[in-house]
Amino acid sequence: MIDCVICGSGFDPAAVSLADPAVEVGHILALEKYGDAGTICMPCLANRGRLAMMYDPDLQY
Ligand SMILES: [Zn+2]
Repeated sequence: MIDCVICGSGFDPAAVSLADPAVEVGHILALEKYGDAGTICMPCLANRGRLAMMYDPDLQY
């Protein structure tokens, strides 16, 4: 278990599933834009992905 750097709650990075498209986009952003992949929990990845899909003009998936 590690602590999410955004919300501080403990989570298991190996249990993160990318089945939810919002989580997948958040994960891609963590890898390519923010450089913090593996330190963000699933709900925070989903929030990031969802907000990015709505508001980030660089994202044209
Ligand atoms: Zn979190």
